[in-house]
Amino acid sequence: MNSSMLNSRWSLPVLTYHRIGPFVRGVEPTITVAPRQFENQLSWLKSHGYQTLTAFHLSEVLKGRAVMPPNPVLLTFDDGYEDLCEYAFPALLANHFNATVFVVTGRLGQINTWDQAVGWSALPLMSADQIRQWAKETIDFGSHSKTHPVLTELSEVELESELSGSAQELSLILGRKATCLAYPHGRHSAVVRSVAARYFDLAFSCEEGPNDANTDRFAIRRTMVRPKDGLRSFSHRVLKGASPVYDLQQWRAQARLRSRFKDILSWFHHA
Ligand SMILES: [Zn+2]
Repeated sequence: MNSSMLNSRWSLPVLTYHRIGPFVRGVEPTITVAPRQFENQLSWLKSHGYQTLTAFHLSEVLKGRAVMPPNPVLLTFDDGYEDLCEYAFPALLANHFNATVFVVTGRLGQINTWDQAVGWSALPLMSADQIRQWAKETIDFGSHSKTHPVLTELSEVELESELSGSAQELSLILGRKATCLAYPHGRHSAVVRSVAARYFDLAFSCEEGPNDANTDRFAIRRTMVRPKDGLRSFSHRVLKGASPVYDLQQWRAQARLRSRFKDILSWFHHA
């Protein structure tokens, strides 16, 4: 077996985070992972011999221009919250890890209007200067569109504008081609993927599971780290690209709710 065959046999888990930081009242509850919890996760990765790579590095591997490291994991952060600079990046660098942040190029230095529009409290987003500064510190940046719409609901003209505009804006900031995209809300279709392929080398979805050399480059799988993930659930995400432990907990919680609802209904029925 030669080394190129070995190199094509990798399996890559991709984790999705949004925000690392203290709890903020009114903010969409699934997007925050506590700093202590994040540090424990990084320690777990380190003690189990994992090596991080960026989305840019992955695109180089897929083009045959770079080698996949052993025990790889790709950490991604969607939306580009400003307090990543305070909590996530210093913790990553302290562990010699890197990561890819997907930013909304039409909202840099502003707030997450897409969550605010559905009633959640707003959070500040990184500026172009902050992106430039952290790009020098091995943090990689990709596109998360211009304004964070559901791409599958746009006309082809709007879709072009969101993707080509964001690729151009990010390339100007980085001083190199922006190669990677994460679909806002994880939503994509054949049309979205084909427009994405005009401007990017890779695009990330929210479908779970590990990736290998045969995974669709415009539907790379990711698993989202949840605020309630313990290390057992986290380790499943890394090993399998999904957490059956977390899914089972969710299913049980829903089943409890359903049975409580049935009890209430039968009480009304008999009353
Ligand atoms: Zn997003």
